[in-house]
Amino acid sequence: MAISMPMVWSERHRLHEPGGEVWVGVRTPGTELPERAERIRRELVRRGAPLVEAREAPNDDALRLHDPALVDYLASAWERWEASGLTADPGQDRVVPYLFAHPGLLGEVEPIEPAAPAALAGRFAYDTMTLIGPGTWAAARSALDVAITTADLVLDSDTAAYALCRPPGHHATRGAFGGSCYLANAAAAAARLADQLGRVAVIDVDAHHGNGTQSLFYEDPDVLTGSVHVDPAAGWFPHFLGAAREAGSGPGAGANRNVPLPPGTGDSRWTEAVEGLCRWARQGGARGLVVALGVDAAGGDPESPLEVTAEGYRAAGRALGALGLPTAFVQEGGYDLATIGPLVAETLEGFEQAR
Ligand SMILES: [Zn+2]
Repeated sequence: MAISMPMVWSERHRLHEPGGEVWVGVRTPGTELPERAERIRRELVRRGAPLVEAREAPNDDALRLHDPALVDYLASAWERWEASGLTADPGQDRVVPYLFAHPGLLGEVEPIEPAAPAALAGRFAYDTMTLIGPGTWAAARSALDVAITTADLVLDSDTAAYALCRPPGHHATRGAFGGSCYLANAAAAAARLADQLGRVAVIDVDAHHGNGTQSLFYEDPDVLTGSVHVDPAAGWFPHFLGAAREAGSGPGAGANRNVPLPPGTGDSRWTEAVEGLCRWARQGGARGLVVALGVDAAGGDPESPLEVTAEGYRAAGRALGALGLPTAFVQEGGYDLATIGPLVAETLEGFEQAR
């Protein structure tokens, strides 16, 4: 087997070194490492995928899904932090929020623009795990370029392409970041495809609910958003969102579908859920597809309790390929360095088998 679809990437992902996570108040090493993307790139090149450098997309286009306030913040967060002296005293070398503009704090009051960088972080971050370092903005912005270049390749060739995005994006919302995500890569690809194709679908197979993608299109009938993930109510990120009852609202009512699965779910039930989302996208009239491809549902992954195997990913790829739609794959999670490349490759090969 060989992979024929192009793989788009940017070496600028390496600029993002999260430096760990602050989890339950403790700095831990974290798993969203630069090596993830390097492993995937090497494996796909080994299997024949042509490597394409991302083109720089204009800001107006690339950032249109996000609040300008979030964009301005992310672009300047590190410089503000460094200038404030927090790197020396108390010695924090990454941007970390210290309190949050929680709705229970603010009520109906419009928040003050805080002067303290550690407070400003809590206006835009919704967790403490998504740290910002010197190169985070450049890398996050380049990941958007990767996603948009990929969508353009799909539109040009009417077939499929793969975006090696890092950092990932499906937890980023219009105005906030979290879950190791800063900007919404898969959503940007979907918006690009929708511009040309009309109605499109995002099918998110990452082990965690794609809450950012869901929220960006929650009232939009032309971007169907489906996600299969470990049940957040069973104790998994993003904890507060991802229930089956979240189905879209207003003109987007019925255009969102969540399939939460219990911890321990393996191949057969997981691939059935992917196949169900494929049928749902077809019946909904999708003319293009974005696959938010996290491979952290794999049995060996440290970040989820799902037990999907390489054969499960290949079966999911076949189901996605059988839709016969112009398709952009966008990389999301996947944290087991030994298997991340092969799992992505299995999915793409399954997809190409079914075409
Ligand atoms: Zn995930």
